[in-house]
Amino acid sequence: MTNTRVHIVRCGDYQPQLVRSAVREAVEAIGGLPIKAGDKVLLKPNLLSPRPPEKAVTTHPQVVSAVAELVRDCGGVVMLGDSPSGQPGDAIWSATGMNDILAPTGIKKVDFTASGTVEFLTRGNVYYLAQAALECDLLINLPKLKTHSLTMFTGAVKNLYGCLPGFQKGNWHRRAPKNEQFSQVVVDVFSRFTPRVNIMDGVVAMEGGGPANGRPRKLGIIIASDSAPALDKAAARIIGFDEDEILTTRFAEQRGFFNPENITLTGASIEEVAPSSFALPQDRYLRMIPRLLHEVMGRFIWSRPEVNETDCVACGDCAQNCPVQAMSFNGGPPEIDHKICINCFCCDEICSSGAIEKKMSWLAKRLA
Ligand code: SF4
Ligand code: SF4
Repeated sequence: MTNTRVHIVRCGDYQPQLVRSAVREAVEAIGGLPIKAGDKVLLKPNLLSPRPPEKAVTTHPQVVSAVAELVRDCGGVVMLGDSPSGQPGDAIWSATGMNDILAPTGIKKVDFTASGTVEFLTRGNVYYLAQAALECDLLINLPKLKTHSLTMFTGAVKNLYGCLPGFQKGNWHRRAPKNEQFSQVVVDVFSRFTPRVNIMDGVVAMEGGGPANGRPRKLGIIIASDSAPALDKAAARIIGFDEDEILTTRFAEQRGFFNPENITLTGASIEEVAPSSFALPQDRYLRMIPRLLHEVMGRFIWSRPEVNETDCVACGDCAQNCPVQAMSFNGGPPEIDHKICINCFCCDEICSSGAIEKKMSWLAKRLA
């Protein structure tokens, strides 16, 4: 297996000049962009839901813009695509600031749902992946560094899950409700892409209850790698996760997509850029409890979503996108049937009002 490169560069804020220089350094350190004149290059940011860049839910437009400029300098044709939660339509492009960078950078917007899909079969699972993401000459993966309620961390490997257009994402949550199952599904999707260029926006990350309603937290870094799981391994360590705690990274290693022994880390060190504290998901230790014990103690140890009725604007989006129809919506704040709920937190991802809260039992809080 060839050596894998991970480069960490400091980037204090989103001033265009700073971001440009950090992105350029990071890309050069991992071997540059393998682009020929005329190549179609798809930028795949994290456009989870229609939130403004300062909320740290989505990859910052300045990072996308800086990468687009590099691609153009190589003569590439730049496209930008993702498949956000639900059906937010054009709102995603304007709210996230992406519309503002399209004209100056010459980026072409791609709608993954409209671009068609290609069947992909692996481990007995069938996925319908965005054709635009498969048929480009190069896919550049642009994840955001965030915590995640289900998988604990969302980074470069998980960002490829957005290449599943439409309601497939929710359906897979239903079919693979546990973190162990869902993380394998995420690695399945990643396995069809294994992008060679991955650039993570960690200038302002998200801590606490990510990926949609945690707190923005300045880390001041951009990380690049020629391997998505190797990048995630470094990023997860920076924010304080234990070695091997992130299942998407562990499964990617077990399935032979990278070898931690072969990683060359350059630029700033993990110790230099690691914050003195970073809030990880409150219930992370519950995810490590053996399944049997969890099943026995499930009545006493739980964390689950609840609707905050004060913050809820009764839009109904969460109920419409709940993969197991555990939410009933009658014009007011939805009610959750916890006997049906699979704790996927898709409702949290889609709620633009931050009205889904994670509630924990008394014992779960004591164990956390
Ligand atoms: S919880 Fe959020 S998504 Fe659900 S109805 Fe209320 S505001 Fe809308
Ligand atoms: S209520 Fe929320 S967490 Fe529960 S299954 Fe539905 S979307 Fe998932």
